[in-house]
Amino acid sequence: MSIAENIAAIRAKMNAAAIAAGRDPKDILLCAATKMNDAEAVREAILGGVDCCGENRVQELTAKLADNAYTGAPVHFIGHLQTNKVKQVVGKVDLIQSVDSLRLLEAVQKEAARQNICQSILLEINIGQEENKTGFAIPEIWEILDNIANFPNIAVKGLMAIPPICENPGDNDKFFQEIYNLAVDITAKKGDNVSMDILSMGMSDDFADAIRCGSTMIRVGTAIFGVRNYAHQQ
Ligand SMILES: *Cc1c(COP(=O)(O)O)cnc(C)c1O
Repeated sequence: MSIAENIAAIRAKMNAAAIAAGRDPKDILLCAATKMNDAEAVREAILGGVDCCGENRVQELTAKLADNAYTGAPVHFIGHLQTNKVKQVVGKVDLIQSVDSLRLLEAVQKEAARQNICQSILLEINIGQEENKTGFAIPEIWEILDNIANFPNIAVKGLMAIPPICENPGDNDKFFQEIYNLAVDITAKKGDNVSMDILSMGMSDDFADAIRCGSTMIRVGTAIFGVRNYAHQQ
């Protein structure tokens, strides 16, 4: 199947999941997780109607930006970002979904202030409390939101989560629900530059479950582009 056909199939599944949950399909955005796919594939995905693109690696982002690969769609950063690389990402992407530590938040604030811009971000939650994954624990999220006035050049737009790899449908529902409930709690108390419009959760294997549990943005790679060939990695 072509990239466009894959996207059409995903849209059909997204719509069915939304309607089954009593939600408006328009409230759920499709972010193409483009890592290890070239500019041509990214252009095909944008023509195929994805809502935005999400890049994992600074080097790939920079190369594809230079290639005008994202013309016609917003680009997000969704991978682990090292603080020494924020200059290459802040101001270059519409949304940094993967702000996963206080150190990174501070580095993004500093760079956004230097550029005199407001950078939109999501706070990434390590929802399964997995040791090998980055991200905030829920109490840390509250601490940041209590001190959000220290980050005047950052606009928090919501939460992002990568739950553990699921083996069976429904395995991650408890995590998705936990994030949804957290967003509801934050919305009830939120401060000035905080919104919870974006709940970025759900990938190729579990996006229908995530939509049922309240996701407003799914990040899909494999189901759009096919299986990634890690053998070609530099
Ligand atoms: C690769 C990736 C995805 C997409 O994963 P698939 O299982 O290929 O759909 C989503 N989010 C992040 C952060 C990723 O790195």
